[in-house]
Amino acid sequence: MVMKSPGIPDTVPLVKELVRKGVPVLSEIEFASGYTDATIIGITGSNGKTTTTMLTYHILKNGGLKVGMAGNIGDSFAKMVAEEDFEYYVLEISSFQLDGIQDFKPHISVLTNITPDYPDRYGYKFENYIASKFLITKNQKVDDYFIYDADDEVIDKWLKEHPIKSKLLPFSLAKSFGEGAYLEENKIKITTQEDTIKMMTDSLALEGQHNLKNTMAAAMVAKLVGIRKETIRECISNFQGAPHRLEKVLKIHHVQYINDSKATNVNATYYALDSVKTPMVWIVGGVDKGNEYKELMPPVREKVKAIVCLGVDNEKIKDTFGNVVDLLVETYAMEEAVKVAYKIAERGDTVLLSPACASFDLFENYEDRGNQFKNCVKNL
Ligand code: ADP
Repeated sequence: MVMKSPGIPDTVPLVKELVRKGVPVLSEIEFASGYTDATIIGITGSNGKTTTTMLTYHILKNGGLKVGMAGNIGDSFAKMVAEEDFEYYVLEISSFQLDGIQDFKPHISVLTNITPDYPDRYGYKFENYIASKFLITKNQKVDDYFIYDADDEVIDKWLKEHPIKSKLLPFSLAKSFGEGAYLEENKIKITTQEDTIKMMTDSLALEGQHNLKNTMAAAMVAKLVGIRKETIRECISNFQGAPHRLEKVLKIHHVQYINDSKATNVNATYYALDSVKTPMVWIVGGVDKGNEYKELMPPVREKVKAIVCLGVDNEKIKDTFGNVVDLLVETYAMEEAVKVAYKIAERGDTVLLSPACASFDLFENYEDRGNQFKNCVKNL
């Protein structure tokens, strides 16, 4: 058999030839899962995977379970299965990894959302990408669980047209359910067959609407594997978020600097713009994967006073927002971008780095971009 790195598409000649010869070509999660009886929690989606995975792991670990975190995050799943003896695994799983599964079956799967991404890999057909994400439910049975964003129209529609076997546990900010998670006034309410947990939204560690959803998903997983209510409450209020995701860096002269370098697409940036409540200087740009910026218009009109473009090609951003904000400045290095933002921002404002784009025109990767931002802010 061949264990293929998820970055290699199925369409390359070598892979095609292997498949033609009948050699199984598998992803690493498929391979590793054959060697463990641990309960698997698989988390996928276009945005929110890492946050939800880390939060879930945090709760399960504090709840006293023998649990490992792997997949698209940290060590490989196979390495952990080989070296450790965990009873639970929380796996962050990309669609590329799901493309290479056959029998992989999480007991609990989570789908955070689906927004268009990686068009080239999926033959420019959004359905292919959706189908790939839903592979997480492919081998699930009636006693397994599928936790998903019921506000996401793409997921909702797909589920209606392609029913799945697992028990559905939706979460939503707009609807309510007998079993699932939803908002009730200023509380989140999580109901499973056994129990209900309520918690004030302002006591949650992760801010922003999107993080309410991530928190709901993680708390539901925790409830399903039997973690006590008190532990869940405590963990979702003391969790330290992952770096580069709406990460508060410093407050300088009453201006808050936020690093959201991981926002490499429009949807992620939408939630960042939405979650900041003050006037903003927004640093945006990089390599755009076919971005449609229109959906950002309402929060930009409402709260963004200036845009600092940070990319090699800023034409699309200039065309879209040039007439919408009072000030738009082009920069070509992080230090310059941060200095410009510092000059523009006034007491009470926020400087938000949320690029909506990939980073490889000016940076090694999103971590490099975020780290440079943090260093430049610290040097102001
Ligand atoms: P992923 O691992 O799927 O890339 P992350 O948790 O690293 O997700 O978050 C990536 C970006 O998406 C961050 O900028 C974050 O603010 C945003 N984000 C996180 N959760 C969600 C969500 N549920 N919906 C939309 N955007 C989100």
